[in-house]
Amino acid sequence: MLDLPALGRCQCGACAYRIEAPPFVAYTCHCTECRKLTASAFLTCMQVPAEGVVVIAGTPVERERTADSGNRLTTWFCAACGSTLYAENSARPRVRTVHVGTLERAEDVEVTAHIWLKRKLPWVEIPATHRQFAEAGDWTRDYARDPGRYRAS
Ligand SMILES: [Zn+2]
Ligand SMILES: [Zn+2]
Repeated sequence: MLDLPALGRCQCGACAYRIEAPPFVAYTCHCTECRKLTASAFLTCMQVPAEGVVVIAGTPVERERTADSGNRLTTWFCAACGSTLYAENSARPRVRTVHVGTLERAEDVEVTAHIWLKRKLPWVEIPATHRQFAEAGDWTRDYARDPGRYRAS
């Protein structure tokens, strides 16, 4: 269970943020884009209300790209060390996707879902009890407390 507020920062510490709202869902993405973004096997994220992510140090810079879906993905990162901190998908502008590895207490985040498993590296083992999606996840039930936030407007 993630205690709030929760603190996060980039590798060098120039950028830091505070999470003030509970996550809707936490999951690991095995897509090739996330592999490039992290230079690792996968990216673990949690989706939180946009206003629940408050930058408390530095000025993360943003980079925008267009996803295969046609949605625009904006990722904020530290210009000094390159750590990626959080992102926004244009399909859900009132949500931020926080990169869990930048949290000070990442071990407190309960990750129980996996997406883009069709791209998973072969040596990554998925617990049988975790929710699994071959491609994008469906988080409808995770947004039960605020369903409107799962949509664009
Ligand atoms: Zn940094
Ligand atoms: Zn991904």
